[in-house]
Amino acid sequence: MSAHFERVALIGLGLIGGSIALAARRAGAAGRIVGYARSEQTRAAARRLGLCDEVAESAAEAVAGADLVILCVPVGAMRAVAAEIGPALAEGVVVSDVGSVKGAVIAALEVLPAHVHVVPAHPLAGTEHSGPESGFAELFDNRYCLVTPLPGGDSGAKGRLADFWRALGANVEEMAPERHDLVLAVTSHAPHLIAYTMVGVADDMRRVTKSEVIKYSAAGFRDFTRIAASDPTMWRDVFLNNKAATLEILGRFTEELFALQRAIRTGDGDQLHDYFTRTRAIRRGII
Ligand code: NAD
Repeated sequence: MSAHFERVALIGLGLIGGSIALAARRAGAAGRIVGYARSEQTRAAARRLGLCDEVAESAAEAVAGADLVILCVPVGAMRAVAAEIGPALAEGVVVSDVGSVKGAVIAALEVLPAHVHVVPAHPLAGTEHSGPESGFAELFDNRYCLVTPLPGGDSGAKGRLADFWRALGANVEEMAPERHDLVLAVTSHAPHLIAYTMVGVADDMRRVTKSEVIKYSAAGFRDFTRIAASDPTMWRDVFLNNKAATLEILGRFTEELFALQRAIRTGDGDQLHDYFTRTRAIRRGII
């Protein structure tokens, strides 16, 4: 198979950057993979794990001569990284990202020079683990990668990025950035916040001990809160950068929660039963 890009630069070598490197190598989708991460520790781990063909000592060095650059850093770091690499980017290079929020990241990427092709994207694949050791080549297999193209963006660049993600195993779809941020607020952002909150509630209880929570967690707590082990920096940035959609969903969530709380208090078994019957049917439709 011929490589989709000759030199792919990955800025950020955590779960997603590391997995892209491994999946691209598996697929033969990149002639050469060059990585960079801010911390010396991560760069050393990436070298030890053999994630990339080369680990650069600066972001500018990594992107020099690249025909595809993917920013795999937390959403809040996108603007600074884009500003740092801007002067080193070749004419016509495709610059993409994997950020979990699209509207704010697209605004951040406006600092990039006009001679590059910006094609934002978000692979809907992840785990609660982070860092270079957590990456694996199969992460994107049969998962969606949502591309959120800019109006008037280069269609050739978009097509090449989509082909790259398909080679990595993903199903590629296009979506408008605002729609992406609202859909993901429902399917990912609000659930993470609620899981974090449930762990906080358990931690704050006086009459239930931590050791009881850990010992008996299989009763629901463990499944429900798995995602609360996710990276705090990543999730802080998601909420600060997808405020409107997350707050809208949380408003709806608290309304429903209060309605159920009232049904419990008033002993309205029919309301609880009807609600659980409806929501169970929806949940069973999700594989
Ligand atoms: P991670 O914590 O595993 O890795 C982040 C990497 O970015 C690390 O290598 C870190 O050293 C580096 N980094 C942080 N700040 C930097 C900076 N200013 N300059 C250069 N490098 C910097 O996180 P991750 O899970 O790989 O997430 C990366 C991106 O992918 C985020 O934007 C996140 O929203 C998105 N994403 C995450 C998931 C998920 O489930 N984890 C899924 C899809 C998309």
